[in-house]
Amino acid sequence: TAAVEVRGVDKVFETRTGQVHALDAIDLAIAPGEFISLIGPSGCGKSTLMRLIADLDEPTGGTLTVFGKTARQARLDQDYGIAFQQAGLLPWRTVAANVALPLELHGVGSAERRSRVEHLLDMVGLSDFADRYPDQLSGGMQQRVAIARALAEQPRLLLMDEPFGALDEMTREKMQTELVRISAETGAAVVFVTHSIPEAVFLSDRVVVMSPRPGRIQQVVPMRLGAE
Ligand code: ADP
Ligand code: ADP
Repeated sequence: TAAVEVRGVDKVFETRTGQVHALDAIDLAIAPGEFISLIGPSGCGKSTLMRLIADLDEPTGGTLTVFGKTARQARLDQDYGIAFQQAGLLPWRTVAANVALPLELHGVGSAERRSRVEHLLDMVGLSDFADRYPDQLSGGMQQRVAIARALAEQPRLLLMDEPFGALDEMTREKMQTELVRISAETGAAVVFVTHSIPEAVFLSDRVVVMSPRPGRIQQVVPMRLGAE
């Protein structure tokens, strides 16, 4: 089964000034382990598509499955990790406790949890900030916490909407390399939204180019030998 299968998906928002056709007849199948980037101008529906896959919103038409299940069931089963531009950290939990959350939900024991959290914080360069609270961190640091949290349970699918947007250049390059390594090692499929074409080219098996009004897939560009 596909990691994500989108068939004929439409999304129409009703607004005070009329309808916005955010997504129009989107077809996309993402294989397990495949790295897909979504690129295109602002307003072409990238975030909307991500939100549908993550079950944060519902399509107006068409079907969408995640590992052969409804998006709702996949969310309940915690089949994916999410890192969106808004880090979405719990302000009352420390950095370490935010990263530990998916592990707690999966019943990982406390010793194992602690060592995995230490490893994850080391990977994103935040070992010294384990006991701080999110509001004591810069935006870029909060994003790194969100990335560590998304990776904590080694999910089969990672949904990342401009996760590196607030990072400085050095950190971004480090995180890109880590992400490639992690997706190769764990075999996770990744859906990655970015404004950077070089980033999309560097990271992806296929780049999905979208266009706005209405949001459509304009082109799918294979980046690796063997990617269809
Ligand atoms: P992108 O992520 O590619 O910039 P979005 O998915 O955010 O694009 O938006 C696609 C279109 O849908 C835009 O025209 C946007 O204004 C509209 N849109 C997104 N979310 C909403 C919403 N909650 N209500 C109304 N319109 C929306
Ligand atoms: P507890 O669950 O012990 O009451 P917290 O809410 O502070 O405490 O932490 C939740 C989880 O976060 C802990 O169970 C542990 O797995 C992890 N954690 C907390 N602090 C650290 C730390 N400094 N290093 C590694 N993991 C930590």
